[in-house]
Formats: sequence, C-alpha cells, structure tokens
Amino acid sequence: MRDTHGSVPIQEDDMDEKIKELRERARTAITEKATSLGELGDIRVKFLGKKGELTSLLRSMSALVAEERPRIGKIVNEAREELEELLAAKSEELSYRELEERMARERIDVTLPGRTGEVGHLHPLTITLNRIKKIFLNMGFTIEEGPEIETDYFNFEALNLPKDHPARDMQDSFYITEDILLRSQTSPVQARTMQKSEPNAPIRMIAPGRVYRRDSYDATHSPMFTQVEGLVIDKGISFADLKGMLELCLHQLFDKDVKVRFRPSFFPFTEPSTEVDISCSSCRGAGCRVCKGTGWLEILGAGMVHPNVLSMSGYDPAVVSGFAFGMGIERIAMLAYGVDDLRLFYDNDVRFLHQF
Ligand SMILES: [Zn+2]
Repeated sequence: MRDTHGSVPIQEDDMDEKIKELRERARTAITEKATSLGELGDIRVKFLGKKGELTSLLRSMSALVAEERPRIGKIVNEAREELEELLAAKSEELSYRELEERMARERIDVTLPGRTGEVGHLHPLTITLNRIKKIFLNMGFTIEEGPEIETDYFNFEALNLPKDHPARDMQDSFYITEDILLRSQTSPVQARTMQKSEPNAPIRMIAPGRVYRRDSYDATHSPMFTQVEGLVIDKGISFADLKGMLELCLHQLFDKDVKVRFRPSFFPFTEPSTEVDISCSSCRGAGCRVCKGTGWLEILGAGMVHPNVLSMSGYDPAVVSGFAFGMGIERIAMLAYGVDDLRLFYDNDVRFLHQF
C-alpha cells in the first residue's frame, strides 16, 4: 500500500500498538505515580502538551494511508478523552488531599490559652492624686499647673518670703542659678493664678505637682515628692469656710467617721496658720506605732492667705480674703494604704505596685 504523499506507509498495527502502549503508560502515570498537583501537571504536559507524546502521535498520522486515518484518529481522540478524565479526577483527589494536609499542618488549637498582653494599672500616687482631684472638682475647683523650674520670685518672694526670711531655711531647694530653682512647693502656682486673673476675681483652685527640697532620702523623706496646694479667694471668706471645706475633704478622702483636729502653726504665707490632724485609723485614737502613741496623724497645713500675699499679686486684702492649704500626696497614700516606707513608691518594684 502507498499513501497519497508518496512516503513509506506506517503499518496500522504499529500505530494501534503505539497508542495502546502510550495510553497504558499515561494511565499508570496519572493514577499511580502522581503524588502532587505539580507532578500531575508535568504528566499532562508530557502526554497531552503541544509537544506531548499523544500530540506527536497525532501528527504522525499524515504518514498513514488515507483510509486508516479516521479510525486511528478516533482511537487517539478516545485516548485523549480518557486521559483528560483521569487527569481531572486525579487533580480533584490531589487537591483535596493537599488541602487536608495543609489543614492538619496549620490547625489552630483552640484549647490553648490565649496570650494576653500585660495590663498595667495606675501608680498608687496617681490613684491617690486622682481621688483628691475628683473631690475638689466636685466642689467646683479648677486644676492649675505651673513650672517645676521656678523663679525665686514666685517660689518665695511673692509668697511673703523675702530673701532674708528665716523660714526659707525650712525649704532649702536645688538652685540652678541664684534666682532660678526647682520649686520647693506648689504654692507659686497660687501667685501665678492670682496674677493672671482680674484683680479681686474669685478663685477656687488646686495645684498638684512635684516639688523638690534638699532633704535626706529615708522612710519618710525624699528630695522629690508630690504636693497638692489649694487656694480659695472671694469676698467674705473666713476661717469657718476653711474648717468646713477641709473637714468635708478629709471625710471623703479617708472615712466619714474620722476626727479632724486643727492646731495653731506658722507659715509665712498664711495668717493665722494651722496644722490639720486626723484621728489615727490604726488605733482609733488609742495610740499606736503608726501615730507614735498620740492617736493623731498630721495630714496637712493650711491658713488664711496673708494680706501681703494678696496685695503682691494684685488683690486687695480690704476687699477679698481667702484660705490656702497644702498636702503631701505620698503621706496621704501611705496612710490610706498602710505603707510604712515612702521610698517604696519610687522603687518601681512590681511586687509592690501589683498590690494596688
Ligand atoms: Zn494610732
């Protein structure tokens, strides 16, 4: 037999055999050898790709005699269809298996406890200060602030403490120059507030903040501590207002049953001046180690604003009067929480801080 192109005809039996063999090999490769989608892709290219074995077999059909081409063509197409089906089935199987493996590998164990962030909390001094602020804000006070590096004028002179005043010795501070120092009290904020107000305008303010004194560092002293200063100025303010307001404040701060005692004292910026004590909460006044056997705890200093302090900041002592008070936050926190060493507040020891 000769074909129309005149080349040597391929025996159709050879062709049948070749297709059968190829089909068998492809079948085995797809169903038994492929273990991943990648490998399966390679097998597809090897047999069915543009340069694949089945494709080149199809091309070589031109060497067949014309009568045989439809039959062989049909067999090749059947082979292609079968292989396509096998490939699709295997692809689905492998996809499913790979997904299962990935899920097993990346499984999230929901029974493990979560990793939560460490939640901190406010420092005991901040908690105490916030309680004090809240009490005074509820009474209509404003909160004023001033610089920690202060002039001699505002820290002392404007508060009736001229340069040669002996009471300056009580508050020896850290000087930066002869006229600039770390403030030894929050009282300069009083003078600053008065000077920025209209003359004789009413004032109800507290000034919280850090203060500095040249002091030893021990269980009850620190060169840096926190104060809250208060000032009330208006027409007709009397010592009775001072007593009533401070009692109200201390009852809210400690206990409504706490007893409050006023003792005469001296401060250069107030006249008259008083120290304020509360009854000891540890022994209820009987006398113990905390109150050094007296039954009382010193809690703050206060007094009627000295006329010189008013007039130096533009207020007329003939028209208005006022009272001022100051307390140490550390002292109040120590009493409120039963802490016996002030230094614990500054040590940053979490074993201590976790307790609040
Ligand atoms: Zn006591």
